[in-house]
Amino acid sequence: MVLPDGVRELLARLRAAGYEGWAVGGCVRDTLLGLLPKDYDLCTNATPEQMRAAFAGLRVVETGIAHGTLTVIAGGEPYEVTTYRVDGAYTDHRRPDSVEFVREVERDLARRDFTVNAMAYSPEAGLLDCFDGRADLEKGLIRCVGEPGARFDEDALRILRALRFAAVYDFSVEENTARAARERKGSLALVARERVSAEMGKLLCGRAAERIAGEFGDVMAATMGARLRAQGLGATPAELPLRLAHALQDAPDVGSVLSGLRLDRATERAVRELLREKERSRPQGDADWRHLLHELGQERALQLARWKGWPLADARTVLVRGDCWNLRQLAVTGRDLMDLGIAPGTQMGAALEALLEAVLDGKTPNEREALRERAKKLAGIAEK
Ligand code: ATP
Ligand code: MG
Repeated sequence: MVLPDGVRELLARLRAAGYEGWAVGGCVRDTLLGLLPKDYDLCTNATPEQMRAAFAGLRVVETGIAHGTLTVIAGGEPYEVTTYRVDGAYTDHRRPDSVEFVREVERDLARRDFTVNAMAYSPEAGLLDCFDGRADLEKGLIRCVGEPGARFDEDALRILRALRFAAVYDFSVEENTARAARERKGSLALVARERVSAEMGKLLCGRAAERIAGEFGDVMAATMGARLRAQGLGATPAELPLRLAHALQDAPDVGSVLSGLRLDRATERAVRELLREKERSRPQGDADWRHLLHELGQERALQLARWKGWPLADARTVLVRGDCWNLRQLAVTGRDLMDLGIAPGTQMGAALEALLEAVLDGKTPNEREALRERAKKLAGIAEK
């Protein structure tokens, strides 16, 4: 298994200081899947203090020392290194009340959520796979480590994580894990909304989102507080605003669903605006596209087109040719119209809008003289 130089350096330093060190979790899973891991997490039997000594000379950031985690910069990249630990009780279904450091890597692996996430690798010892994660990866199965019901009771977010990994990798949820997930779907309402939101976003953008949202419609509805539309999700581009708009199009109270998700402002606004335009018909030709761009702005108009699957050829023509579709592009300014004797204020605003309208429709070229002539007629200004 190929590891980045920084990871190799950290593992070598831990070993040189007499400790164990492993790459663990998502990076092992993704590497075995032939994917490029997003990041590499390490675990070790060294305590944070012992790590500090082993990593002397490297930049260390104290991210979560109470949870045994240091972030260390090696090879120019930050890596989280965490002491082997088990989680204490979860009284709020969100975070363990406490963590306990342990001596054995196997116990650290046993606290992890799914078999495919509970593998560790080190260059010396090779793959450490106590729960047959590799076999589940090959079968395409998301299976809890240990008894699914108990694991979901500890942390209900794992229910959604199971669906997320299945949707992202196009895996199945193992039968007992799936049953326990359905039985406990009610507890998802208790999970912190930010955590739900992050998992839901990844789930909806997953390549098997349509299948998973269909198979687990009940769990998804319990999480979101509204039934989602699964059908057609797969054909919707995997961009969060589009997938959300598609999934929520039948929801009676989109506003409260969206505010419950605590999305960033831009995403939330995009979903609201896309849903507002859901019945809009496909633009026919350049003029329609100029109007759409004017009304929605370029980003939203193109998003809407991607959602609806509209052909983009005409939009591209309008944009590449540099057609005028907003006031900034209009070949006359308010000053030009003032020079013609049009008063600033309402009259001016109306005149500019009327000129733009004519340009959008293709009734007037976007040229200064032509627009001045039209403005004079509009304002009833006689030729000198
Ligand atoms: P991604 O590639 O999306 O980051 P990941 O597997 O790295 O996936 P993280 O949320 O970054 O997921 O978590 C890192 C590791 O920590 C997981 O692989 C898993 O072993 C463990 N883990 C994360 N969340 C939980 C949880 N709620 N319960 C148990 N173990 C968890
Ligand atoms: Mg990760």
